[in-house]
Amino acid sequence: MVDPAIGYLRDYVAIPSVNPMGRTDLPPEIVGEAAFAEHLLEQLRGLSIDATRVGSAQRPSVVAEVNAAEGGGDTVLVASHLDTVPVDGMEISPFDPAVEGGRLYGRGSCDTKAGMAALVAALERVLERGVLRRNLILVGEADEELGSQGVRDVLAALDNRRPDWVLATEPTELRVVTCHKGVVHVRMEARGRACHASNPSEGSNAIVLLSRAALALDSLAASLSNRRDPELGPATLSVGVMRGGHAPNVVPDHAHLVADRRLLPGESLAGVRAEFEQALADAGISESVEITACSLEKPTLSTARDHPAVLCCTRALVATGQKGERSGVAFGTDAGVFEGAGLPGVVVGPGSILRAHTAREYVEIDQVEAMTAFFVELLSGN
Ligand SMILES: [Zn+2]
Repeated sequence: MVDPAIGYLRDYVAIPSVNPMGRTDLPPEIVGEAAFAEHLLEQLRGLSIDATRVGSAQRPSVVAEVNAAEGGGDTVLVASHLDTVPVDGMEISPFDPAVEGGRLYGRGSCDTKAGMAALVAALERVLERGVLRRNLILVGEADEELGSQGVRDVLAALDNRRPDWVLATEPTELRVVTCHKGVVHVRMEARGRACHASNPSEGSNAIVLLSRAALALDSLAASLSNRRDPELGPATLSVGVMRGGHAPNVVPDHAHLVADRRLLPGESLAGVRAEFEQALADAGISESVEITACSLEKPTLSTARDHPAVLCCTRALVATGQKGERSGVAFGTDAGVFEGAGLPGVVVGPGSILRAHTAREYVEIDQVEAMTAFFVELLSGN
């Protein structure tokens, strides 16, 4: 029998749901999660599931609750983000899903519409058979690829209904991911004094000041390599953006940079900020270079290996012929955001993260089918 998840996935990929990621140059018809959310709501209502839209009109998320057939059972929240990254430079038609050589191609096929397709197909099967043994909170959240506003909207809508644990779908090749790093972005601004470049000693060059800051951060990055997690490797720091100046004949009065700092479990935002401030002080530039933003983009994930989320997912994977391997990953996910809100969990999903965000994004069809089987087992098993 063909897994209905494959047909659902084709439908999902054909509905653009691009996260604008702060850009304003994208065609409006491909931006936002509204059309995908609408499709999902219709589909869930077709299964007699009460599904609601939460969040803003352009960037909505979907929440649906389905209770176990005979009452009791724990409550699991399964979250699969609705948004994809943009499609610049893609070498395939991003919204025209093609099946070839056991793969389904298209933007979002792997990251992470395959997860939602498998969940809906599994839920349909389990409800048909009347064997739902866990209470399910199904979440399709907006904005995973940037700010996780979707998770915040969903948490607000759930109010005080708390799941026992969370499963976020992301491409993990069906491994149970129990830990990942967090992401902090730090913005720094250098304030100089503008003057004519023919007489530079009259001014103070913000680009030069900021360059000293960048070098100070590079030293800090080198020292971080000693701070290691046995599974995740070292904490890291990279300067990703540096901008300043107006014209060659003007000594610039302003420049800014943005650094990306990857956190290990146990590190805090306040601790990161203090380290950056110390680096500026050590370089003697705290007077002229200021940290203007220090934001936690994605919290870390760190779930105990004997947590019920890990045990239940491993058991369901093994029962459906998978290895049930556990691992850590380098990328951040919404599971970390849920953990930050006191809801522990894991990440499991079909496909490889190496295919996500790429010019020829695809997911292996047998991975999607295996994910459906896993969800059927998880929802109907023990
Ligand atoms: Zn993703």
